[in-house]
Amino acid sequence: MSYQALYRVWRPQRFGDIAGQEAVTQTLKNALIQGKTSHAYLFTGPRGTGKTSAAKIFAKAINCHHRVDGEPCNECETCRAITEGRLNDVIEIDAASNNGVEEIRDIRDKARYAPTQADYKVYIIDEVHMLSTGAFNALLKTLEEPPENVIFILATTEPHKIPLTIISRTQRFDFKRISYQDIINRMAYILQEEKIGYDEQALHVIARSANGGMRDALSLLDQIISYGSDAVTFDNAVKVSGSLTEEMMISFSSALLHEETEVALQLLQEILSAGKEAGRFLEEMILFARDVLVYQQTKGKAFADNTQQYSEAFQTFSQESPATFLYEMIEAFNETQGEMRFSTQPDIYLEVLAVKLSQSKAHATAAAPSAQAAPSAEVQRLAHELELVKKELAKLQELIASGNLSVSQEGAKAAPAKKETVRQSNTSAGFKPNMGRTYQILGEATKQDLARVRDFWTDILDVLSVTQRAVLKQANPVAASPTSFILAFQYDILCQKATEDAELQAAVDAATQRMLQRPGELVCLTEEQWTSVRRNFIQNRNGNGSPATGSDGEPKQAAPKQAAQPAAPKQSAPTTVDEDTAVDLDLPPEPPMPEMEDGYRGDYHPGNFADDFAVETDPIVIEEQKEQEVVDQALSLFGDEVVTVVED
Ligand SMILES: [Zn+2]
Repeated sequence: MSYQALYRVWRPQRFGDIAGQEAVTQTLKNALIQGKTSHAYLFTGPRGTGKTSAAKIFAKAINCHHRVDGEPCNECETCRAITEGRLNDVIEIDAASNNGVEEIRDIRDKARYAPTQADYKVYIIDEVHMLSTGAFNALLKTLEEPPENVIFILATTEPHKIPLTIISRTQRFDFKRISYQDIINRMAYILQEEKIGYDEQALHVIARSANGGMRDALSLLDQIISYGSDAVTFDNAVKVSGSLTEEMMISFSSALLHEETEVALQLLQEILSAGKEAGRFLEEMILFARDVLVYQQTKGKAFADNTQQYSEAFQTFSQESPATFLYEMIEAFNETQGEMRFSTQPDIYLEVLAVKLSQSKAHATAAAPSAQAAPSAEVQRLAHELELVKKELAKLQELIASGNLSVSQEGAKAAPAKKETVRQSNTSAGFKPNMGRTYQILGEATKQDLARVRDFWTDILDVLSVTQRAVLKQANPVAASPTSFILAFQYDILCQKATEDAELQAAVDAATQRMLQRPGELVCLTEEQWTSVRRNFIQNRNGNGSPATGSDGEPKQAAPKQAAQPAAPKQSAPTTVDEDTAVDLDLPPEPPMPEMEDGYRGDYHPGNFADDFAVETDPIVIEEQKEQEVVDQALSLFGDEVVTVVED
């Protein structure tokens, strides 16, 4: 008989077999017993916690004619057909591979037909957050007018990516992480049934590393069984699941601590290319940093009765890491975890994190007496500073947009008093781009140059060092002249680094020379700066009818035509016109905005979420989407500490 993975063989077939979700399974059973089932369910929770299993059991239970106490009999023809996946009326769809509108429209059309073999047609849509906006709209219509005898079960690990309009039409069940003890009990039960010997301690090691996911626990168990020829020993468990990971986490953290950016990035790449998932890596790093901290603060006492064994390397690392550094690590990991949820390129966040942490100042403050209070005070100070900077930036952008400002290389030496604010904001904002050069490049920029640079950009990155590549990886070429190009950066800190790094610029120039037979001088801007520079440049150009750069490379004062329209709305009105003109003038496109076609998978920045929600593809939904709903949605996604409602 061919080998089957434990988690498949031992997939729960009754609600009673699902570990650690008693509240959910009991409620579902009661609904079945009382005949009060809903036509749409939403099962949410971390992976491996039993969502899909529960969905299949529910499909069986509602169709089984020999149901006992809400549980399917698992013996009748219907039950067996569903278990084996051959009943046409129970349809499992993986939205990760079927996220198109067509597929969902297809479901909508077919859902109209009555079930052929069973009493109820059950659609189980896994990873439902992966559906596109169009597909969600199609699904919404089906949920609004549910066909008879059709039940939808939507399962997801990321409920925040599902539109509220969908959520509000489903009955929601939250699956919890499975407790340590529940995982151990289930593994012990399976091993006894399989007649495989095991060390109790080995199960602890596995449960810890599975972190609340039964599927992960059973996969690990599988690996350990095949590794240790049918016995689950403590040593093998540590080898397969624990020690390698710990060694790697210690090396990575040590590299951060000792400010070895390159080493940290290299380790990170090794970890990721070995197939480690970014989110999972972060979770483990948070647990690890917490362990080191607790170990350090309690001098190991907190673990006295724990079966987890700590290596010498672990103890050494915990002795040499200042608490401030550990706090900072946990905080940064946590924060990145939050940001990453909205990203399709999570490894970039990890690289930025590695660069940031390995250059942090927290290392130096090892002897800080009030280690506990230090990080939050620091964070508060930074947050305050950030607020100030944001305000200054907004003012600056307003000035630029209104055309009352010319931007010059040296921050406008001969500027009148009006420009005082601008100069201040430049110094406090930290990163100051080379505006004169930027406008010069824009004056000479062509579409063809940009297209060529873009074509070769990945190749150029490939010949750089690991560190250089990490700095430039999230930046995009947004404009190019025959000798130079402009890069727009997502992160200020990397923009700054690229600007200051002469070696990096020389490497880019050399690579460009070699591949494109032209110089590749680099000018770096943040994405925000690029957006406003671009707007300013277009406005000047429209105003003058010719490139706005003077002989010294500085843009001319905005045309009087514009200054004479003080009553015009500050930003929004002229933009669309500019877009069109921009195309005629061979102007490079604006930095990419989050894509709405992909709906809720977009790479969101809290700053521009309002725009995202304003864009909708389906006209009917536009009608429905009242302003209040947008605000509610934003509030529920980001919380009121992030979202500020501005009255018009
Ligand atoms: Zn049955």
